[in-house]
Amino acid sequence: MALHTHPTHHPDDDLLVAYASGDLDEAWSLLVATHLAVCPICRSRVEAAETVGGALLENIPTDDLADLSDDALERALERVAATPPDFVGERDGSGSLICKSTSTVTPVLPQPLRDYAGGDVGELEWRRLGSSAFHIPLVSGRGAPAARLLKIPGGTAVPEHGHNGLELTLVLAGSFVDDGERFARGDVETADTDLEHQPYAEAGSDCICLAVTDAPLRFRGPMARLVQPFIGI
Ligand SMILES: [Zn+2]
Repeated sequence: MALHTHPTHHPDDDLLVAYASGDLDEAWSLLVATHLAVCPICRSRVEAAETVGGALLENIPTDDLADLSDDALERALERVAATPPDFVGERDGSGSLICKSTSTVTPVLPQPLRDYAGGDVGELEWRRLGSSAFHIPLVSGRGAPAARLLKIPGGTAVPEHGHNGLELTLVLAGSFVDDGERFARGDVETADTDLEHQPYAEAGSDCICLAVTDAPLRFRGPMARLVQPFIGI
C-alpha cells in the first residue's frame, strides 16, 4: 500500500520568515533549506513571506498589502495541492517502512545538503560519536550555530549533541521517538536543550538526522520583523 507522506513537524514560522528574509546564519539556513526540499507546505509559506517582503520593499500601501498576503498564501497553497510528494513510504516484506521514489531513487540527503556534505550518506566518512553513534560536522563556527549530520543505529539513544540554547533536529532517514512523539523523514524537532529529553532511534534502520544547535544569532532581522505581521505570525 502506497502511503503519501509529508512532514508533520515543521520549523517555527519565525524561522521560515527569517529564512525568506535572508536573516539566518549558515547552519540554520542549511536546515531550513533542507526541510524545504522535502516539505511543500513550508515552501509555500516561504514563498508567501518572500512575496509580502518584496511588496513591502516596493512601498505598496498597507491596505493593499493585507489583501496581497491572503492572496499570496492562497495561491501558494493551491500549488502545494498540485505538487506530488518527492517520495512515498511503503512497507517491505518484514514490515519496516521504506522510502521509494515516485520516479527514480531518491537520495537520503536532499540538495543542498548533499552538496554540503560532499555526497550521499553511503559515500561519507562518518566519525564515531560516543559508543554507538556517528557524526559529520558540516558547519562549525566559534560561537556561531553549528550543524552536523548524525547517524544513530536503530534501537539506541540519540547522543547528546548540544549544550545550551535551541536545538533543531531534521530527520532524513529512519525515525526517532522523543517523549512519546515520533519524528520521521522531513520532520523537524524543535527542542530547548535545557529540557531533559532522551530521544531514541526506532529499531529497524539507522536514523540519519541533520542537527543544528545554539541560538541563532540573527533570528529576527529587520526584514523578518517587518514581514511577520502580514502573514499572521
Ligand atoms: Zn514543513
